[in-house]
Amino acid sequence: MSDDHGNGYDQARWTDGDRYVPLLSEKNSREVAVETPLPDDLTRDSLELPDVSEPELARHYTRLSQMNYGIESGPFPLGSCTMKYNPSFTEDIAAAADGAVHPDRDGETVQGTLELYAQLQEYLADIGGMDAVTLQPPAGAAGEFTGVLVAQAYHEHNGDNKSEIVIPDSAHGTNFASAAMAGFDVVELPSGEDGRVDLDALEAALSDDTALLMLTNPNTLGLFERDIVEIAEMVHDVGGLLYYDGANLNALLGRARPGDMGFDIMHYNVHKTFATPHGGGGPGAGPVGVSEDLERFLPTPHVRATEDGYERYEPENSIGKVHGFHGNWLVLAKTAAYISRLGDEGLVDASAKAVLNANYLAEQLDYEVPFGPFHHEFVASATQDAADVAKRMLDYGVHPPTTKWPEIVDEALMTEPTEGENKRALDQLAAAFNAVADEDEETLESAPERTAARRIDQVSAARDPQLSWQTLDEE
Ligand SMILES: *Cc1c(COP(=O)(O)O)cnc(C)c1O
Repeated sequence: MSDDHGNGYDQARWTDGDRYVPLLSEKNSREVAVETPLPDDLTRDSLELPDVSEPELARHYTRLSQMNYGIESGPFPLGSCTMKYNPSFTEDIAAAADGAVHPDRDGETVQGTLELYAQLQEYLADIGGMDAVTLQPPAGAAGEFTGVLVAQAYHEHNGDNKSEIVIPDSAHGTNFASAAMAGFDVVELPSGEDGRVDLDALEAALSDDTALLMLTNPNTLGLFERDIVEIAEMVHDVGGLLYYDGANLNALLGRARPGDMGFDIMHYNVHKTFATPHGGGGPGAGPVGVSEDLERFLPTPHVRATEDGYERYEPENSIGKVHGFHGNWLVLAKTAAYISRLGDEGLVDASAKAVLNANYLAEQLDYEVPFGPFHHEFVASATQDAADVAKRMLDYGVHPPTTKWPEIVDEALMTEPTEGENKRALDQLAAAFNAVADEDEETLESAPERTAARRIDQVSAARDPQLSWQTLDEE
């Protein structure tokens, strides 16, 4: 394939005929005696541990990493996810930020930690145009849920009984889930013909029952909601609040602020906008910003500056805790490091390049790309099955885009190159997209060919996952 297109590559595989990757302990292991003060019935006598040299260890994990695809392998244009490269200097900062500080320590003995914490609250408030920010929620979705609880507490505090949350049909599934989890009824807002909020439809959806309108701006088609000021007025006129889903904040960094548009609550996906790792189930962070009137409802503990330092406190009408202590502190330290390294100019530069890259790439594709011009992402429409297109793109050495969402575009390929890719990488991406556009159904349906794992049965992977090598071994 590399001969044909100059950009294909084979992922590493194990070639010794094993059904799965050998474990380190299968290579060489030894029994180690276990001595512990625990009761006998809770312990074993010995433990089998891998017994390998450092080079063997390094090769094992390097090989495993080569059987996978990551942002360090090539472009990763997964739309809405903002898969930007995570610069490694932030890891050094996180290591230096001292993860060993016990969260129960007296505030006076951890002033440096609290200062960095307060500093990040301020950075984020400034970037979003918000008055206060909690760093506690552990993901964007958890931030949404926190924001919805804050809105609920606010309305209850005012004696208003509001039962509905309005959400556009192009919104992320977590918006619907967050609203429902907090006990609200969801009113779905159909998109207008130009892919944006339709003001007549909004008028019809709003009522005295409206607690919140949740919006992404630019929306999931990469389109800016030009009527946002009017939208905010309409929501506020019925006594509702406006929530900003921050997943697409990368498009606006340093240029426009949700707070200035009339949003009252927002979350920040730090793993999208501020280059912290995309968990993979690991620790993440989804801070939430609010306007002044809502600060008193934020989770506890919150951190603020005092005359001679920093302190933790419980906001007056706090909704309680949404995570232990101060959230995932080391992820937050990386966020602070990234923002301060970029500075004001760097943030403006990031959004400029993110938007330029999306529009350049959209122009290169042999696919229909409805709507546009775009902000940081666009949604192309495939003539073939979008999931097959995605699988086949892996054979060309690039990660595919997000597929089949938003549903308002047929066979959607939602694509977000991010500011991190240069022209060569964008051209490589375009070549992969366009090569696949010309291929027949049979090729697409049997793809991928060049990856370590071929086509995976996604339904059983989701419903009947084998999470341990032992279950696989027993079969
Ligand atoms: C990623 C995303 C979310 C959820 O954020 P997580 O941090 O993954 O929980 C919400 N809305 C949109 C539009 C997103 O892209």
